[in-house]
Parts: sequence; C-alpha cells; structure tokens
Amino acid sequence: MPAPPKDQRLIVVSSRAPYSVRGAPTELKAERAVGGLVAGLDPIMQERGGLWIAWGDTGGDRRGLRRVEVPIEAPRYALRLVHLTDKEVSGFYSGLSNNALWPLAHYFIGRCKFSTEEWETFLQVNQKIARAVLDEYRPGDVIWVHDYQLALVPHMIRTRRKRARILFFWHVPFPAREVFAVFPWRAELLLGLLDSNVIGFHTVEYARNFLQCVNKVLGLKVLRKKGTVRLEDRRVKVRAFPMGVDAEALAQLADSAEVKQHVRELRRQLRARHLALAVDRLDYTKGVLERLEAIEVFLEQNPAYHERFVFLQVMVPSRTRVGEYRRMKEDIDRSIGRINGRFSRSGWVPIHYYFRMLALPSLAAHYRAADVALVTPLRDGMNLVAKEYVACHPEERGVLVLSEFAGAVEEMSDALVVNPYNPQEVAKTLAAALEMPLPEKRRRMRRMRELVAAHDLRHWAQACLSSM
Ligand code: UDP
Repeated sequence: MPAPPKDQRLIVVSSRAPYSVRGAPTELKAERAVGGLVAGLDPIMQERGGLWIAWGDTGGDRRGLRRVEVPIEAPRYALRLVHLTDKEVSGFYSGLSNNALWPLAHYFIGRCKFSTEEWETFLQVNQKIARAVLDEYRPGDVIWVHDYQLALVPHMIRTRRKRARILFFWHVPFPAREVFAVFPWRAELLLGLLDSNVIGFHTVEYARNFLQCVNKVLGLKVLRKKGTVRLEDRRVKVRAFPMGVDAEALAQLADSAEVKQHVRELRRQLRARHLALAVDRLDYTKGVLERLEAIEVFLEQNPAYHERFVFLQVMVPSRTRVGEYRRMKEDIDRSIGRINGRFSRSGWVPIHYYFRMLALPSLAAHYRAADVALVTPLRDGMNLVAKEYVACHPEERGVLVLSEFAGAVEEMSDALVVNPYNPQEVAKTLAAALEMPLPEKRRRMRRMRELVAAHDLRHWAQACLSSM
C-alpha cells in the first residue's frame, strides 16, 4: 500500500492496545494482543506508520499518558497509551462494553445488564480517549476509530473539531432494530456514531440494520440504496467493508518447509486419518458447547469413523477473571471429558483440546493439517479464522463448515453453511464434508481462495480509507 502524503497522518483509535507494554523505559517489552482487530490493523499500521491511541498501562505516569514506538525491536509507528482507573475499567470495559453492548450486538438480550452508573463511566472514558485524540490532532489527519466501545468518540471529537475527518469501523454485528431498540441509551449511541464522515460494517446486513435503527429511533432520513444518512448540514456514508486477512503472507507461511514438517508431525501425533479443527477465543458467542454436542451426535451416528477421526478444539483464554467465563470453561472441560470417556478406545481419543494461544506458524500448521474447519459461532461480526483457514490451504483440499450467523458467510458462499444451534444438522454436515469428493472440495476451495486473496487485509483498509 502506498504511504499516505505527509499531511494525511493516520490516527487509529481503539479501546484495547495492539501491544501490552511493560517494563522500565530502558528495557521495554511489548507483547502483541490477540484478536481480529489487532491481527488486522497492526500489519497495516506497520506498513503505513502513524499513531495509535488506546487504553493501556502507562507505567505510573502521573498524567496517565505514555508514548512508545512499536514494535519495540523494529519501531514502525507510535503508540499512545491512556491510563484508566480501576473504576473506569470496571464501568466502561467489564460493565457497559462486555455486559451490555457485547451481548446486545450478538443477540443475547438475556445476558445484558444495563446500569446507569456504568453508562456514566462509559461516557467519561469515551471523553478521556477523545481528549487524547484532540491533543494529538493536526489538521489533515485521518482519524480512524474502532469498535463499539468508542461509539461516542466521533461526536466528542466533532464538537471541538468541526472539520475533522473521522472514519468509524464497527467490528461486531449490528443487530436488527428490534434487538438494538432494547438499549436504554440507543439514541445517544447512534448520535455519537453519526458525527463520523463514514461508518463501516463487515456486512451489508449490518449496514442495513444500522440505517433502519437511525431511521426508526432518531426519525432521520436515510437513503437505503445509496447508504447515506441525511443530516441538516451534511451526509454520513454507511458502508459494508468486509474485513480480510493477509492472505498472501498466510499462504506463504502455510507452504513453508517448517509448517509442512509440523503438519506431518501433527497428523502422526494425533493419529488422525480425518481431522476436524475449531479455533476460538473463550466466549459464549463462539458456540463451543453446541459444537461439542454436534461432535457427540456425529460420533454416535458414524461408528465407521471411530479410531480414524479426531476433532481438535483450540481455545484461546479470554476474560478468564470473569466468573461467568470461568464457569463456561469448566462446562467445556466437563463436556469434553464426558464425550471422550464415552467414545475413547485404547490408542484413540476423539477430542483433543488446547487451552492456550498458538503462535502464527503453529496456527497455520493446524489449519493446513485439518481436513475440515468447524467455524460455528452462534453469532460473530466476521470471523477471521474462517478466512485464515482458507488462505492456509494451497493444495485446495480442506472443507469449511460455516455458521450462517457469522459475518463471513456473506462472502463465503462455497462453504457448507449450517445453523450452529442444530447439532443434528452440524453432525450431518461434518459427515458430508468428510465424504466430499476431491473435485468438489477443490472447486469450492479454489473459489473461496480467490475471494480471500482478492479481498485481503490491504483491500479492506484501502476501501475503508479511500471512502473518506
Ligand atoms: N489467533 C491466534 N492464535 C490462536 C488463535 C487465534 O493468533 O491460537 C488469532 C487468529 O489468527 C485470528 C484471531 O485470533 O486472527 C481471531 O479473530 P476472529 O475474527 O476469528 O475472532 P475474535 O477473537 O476477533 O472474536
């Protein structure tokens, strides 16, 4: 991607920082955070340079600010960290973001907890981040704000800088109006976002839902076909920009001698003639328990696959300090133990399970080794794992089983699409994936690989930024 002209510095703003920075100034350490947003944006920032502003550890700086160049070993861009107090973290992050907006966006209304006090803290933290942006802002900068936690930042910047160029990307699903309407501060949230010049979503459906909410909740005129909201003095563009992955780098990695060797070892160690894989962060939206139920049905209905088939679940620890997530992990442990107890034979265990994060080369080897990827979230903004799996199959043999409630489904029409709430259907589809004739596998995989390569990460960033 060409570097931007000097007067067009890019300022990325997100709640979580791309690196967790620790240590004294002379011996700083920075570890990259996990998750789709960071995986997508860090390479872009490394390529373009600029400034990233986020909440993070400021190492006790009294003004609550810290500026470091990252990555520490070979600096490519500046990272400005903003300190949040424990009370702010609790109200803004654990409270309104994780317990209200996250479940709401993923259609889990029953899990939402709405608290006025947390909303007040949410306002304060958005204000704090907006102040850091205003502090850094120079005319000509493009400000790119990320995700629902910072939905009010565009408004807070616009009130002080009328001419600022603000792009907002909403990374999770934007729910249907009937669901969004439940949110007690729905009008404030929409107005916060509408001070952007452009608002991006992963899919056409989310953009449509957003426009409908703006129309019904705020009574504003929207042009649905054109994707614009008409305000008194300006128009806001609302667009679908499906996020992609670094397909070329992944394909090269998956074809490297090191990864190919790892693939051979994996298949030998797992003793699997047929390997199905799932990779998720620990979260109730990912549908892990429902997937395990489907694996149990599959094992019940397909004795011919016993001692030949292995399902490997990779789970990345996430929010493990939250009681509810710890209990979910225990339920998953129990379910795997029960199914393995029921079906294992000497020398064969049907479900393998890692509870840790894999480094990219190891992840690529797992993707390549897997005959089938079971990407079956109950709801997911995009799901980059689906695209990474495809990018890591240069020999075009793998089959992608994909939830109809993942954003990726809008583009990946050659996947086998399933309802993740229906274990019978998922089990049947898994069997069909394993039995699929090679020419059909190739046909489907080739088309998906073309799409993933064309709509890669750079294409996404370019599409977002050029819409400004
Ligand atoms: N990931 C990783 N190591 C792992 C598992 C996952 O680096 O062991 C990365 C994966 O490559 C992907 C991201 O975590 O880019 C997960 O993104 P996704 O959109 O699938 O889900 P999210 O976690 O953002 O909900």
